[in-house]
Amino acid sequence: MKTGFVNIFGKPNAGKSTLLNALLGEKLAIISPKVQTTRHRIKGILTTEDYQVIFSDTPGIIDPKYKLQQRMMMSVKSAMEDADLALLMLDIKDDWEENDALFTSLNLKVPCIVVINKTDKANAEVRKNAEDFFSKKSYCSKVLMISALKGFDVNVFMNPLLELIPEGMPFFEEDQITDLNTRFFVGEIIREKIFELFEEEIPYHTTVLVTAFKEQTHLIKISADIIVQRDTQKSIIIGAGGKMIKEIGVRARKDIEKFLDSKIYLELFVKVRDKWRDNELFLKEYGYF
Ligand code: GDP
Ligand code: MG
Repeated sequence: MKTGFVNIFGKPNAGKSTLLNALLGEKLAIISPKVQTTRHRIKGILTTEDYQVIFSDTPGIIDPKYKLQQRMMMSVKSAMEDADLALLMLDIKDDWEENDALFTSLNLKVPCIVVINKTDKANAEVRKNAEDFFSKKSYCSKVLMISALKGFDVNVFMNPLLELIPEGMPFFEEDQITDLNTRFFVGEIIREKIFELFEEEIPYHTTVLVTAFKEQTHLIKISADIIVQRDTQKSIIIGAGGKMIKEIGVRARKDIEKFLDSKIYLELFVKVRDKWRDNELFLKEYGYF
């Protein structure tokens, strides 16, 4: 059996989360057209009779401007050091030279496959040029052209990866698709709704902490805190007459029920924690290690 760890790197918006979801067939990593929605390393485990591959989606590679971003970059760095194989992913419409500079600067010791994504947005000539451009690079073991969104074929994608993955015993049970707990995903779903409903700054000043998760006979009772930095942000999240917080709840409940395959009762609170993004203690409490 082949067993290995594969890390997915790339700038925000390259399509890392979309690829992971296409591979796993479950909505694990939240996906948003806005950048930086992936704050944690998310593992997805793909197990078949022939292989077990553990994927990590990493936060986009960015310049750390405040402590939260530094944490995110630390998790990118730790991801570089513990894999059998790296996927260096880019949007074919993005700047090739810039991505090349970035991939070079990572200076990875593991074999790298360059994954050129969103090929549905480019014609044959551009696709060919992109393939030629990256296949010449010294860090590149292979180039794969994909559309994570349209007509993605797991088997076609996996074969070249498996050539670079060692033989070994599986690390995880067959039916385990992720090692992150349910609470984490519930929090991510609520956070995703905040990204959907609010513009500009708000989502980046917000985090979600699931404080209670109780399985009862006919439903699961979930409480969560939506943490913001300022009172003004709190009023925006609540909205006139509680309109916005209600909408977050309605949307989140629908998706959480689908994810857990159970009825839920969802209780949301908004709390102000001054400068949580710059506070080590808060970052620890909210799980950003
Ligand atoms: P990440 O930041 O690298 O995790 O990127 P996401 O997976 O969140 O994707 C960013 C955006 O690109 C989302 O709006 C996706 O729907 C879109 N996207 C991802 N893959 C493709 C693709 O193959 N084709 C097209 N047209 N859009 C894609
Ligand atoms: Mg992502």
